Amino acid sequence: MDFRIGQGYDVHRIEAGLPMWLAGVHVPSEFGFVAHSDGDVAIHALCDALLGAAALGDIGKLFPDTSSEWKDADSKDLLRIVMERIREKGWEVSNADITIALQAPKIGPYIARMRDVLASVMDIEKDQVSVKATTTERLGFVGRGEGCESWAVVLLRRG
Ligand code: MG
Repeated sequence: MDFRIGQGYDVHRIEAGLPMWLAGVHVPSEFGFVAHSDGDVAIHALCDALLGAAALGDIGKLFPDTSSEWKDADSKDLLRIVMERIREKGWEVSNADITIALQAPKIGPYIARMRDVLASVMDIEKDQVSVKATTTERLGFVGRGEGCESWAVVLLRRG
């Protein structure tokens, strides 16, 4: 059995009047993420962790933000494509662990749904996907409500 680990990171700016999509779930808020796609930082970090583990480049290479094809893209579709790419190489996901840093709103109530959605899109079990949320105690750009950060780690297995 061969194993590979990957990590991913993403950040998006927050502005009023935009939809907030996180880990595939719409989070009701008067603020949302500025992006070429739907701005789902958690899925973008997860995609980069998956691509990194399989040494298949990064999300910016696969889905250029200069391309109209990915304008306002649903990040769940990007994740589906990334999963196809890693499975084409014979990899399966052992687990994925995601951290989201956001000052507001509180996303705790949405985490179970996020895990359901990600597991479904990735075609894996819910207990293979972890989503954790934190604030930054009002420190830094996250703490000032200017942006949202996300980190993901994945383990792939093959053979
Ligand atoms: Mg992004």
